[in-house]
Amino acid sequence: MALVNVMEMTVKEKLEEILKNENCCKCERCIEDMTALALNKLPTKYVSTHNGKLFSKLNSLVRQNGVDINIAVAEAISCVSKHPSHD
Ligand SMILES: [Zn+2]
Repeated sequence: MALVNVMEMTVKEKLEEILKNENCCKCERCIEDMTALALNKLPTKYVSTHNGKLFSKLNSLVRQNGVDINIAVAEAISCVSKHPSHD
């Protein structure tokens, strides 16, 4: 059985997209912290990868909620870049 959190994939994509224009630390550790922070604010959307139809439907559903995801990701970036978990 293979389960994928569609929200996690979407957040990672968004994060990458937004970070291109951000002048902050982009190390693995910070990106992981940002991903975790953003995901904790968003609902999880699990799908089985066996069900391709459901997968693409959920993927587009998640994208329609783009505004909330953008806000959660932007907040996570500003929070982690102000208080990185390393020196
Ligand atoms: Zn860092």
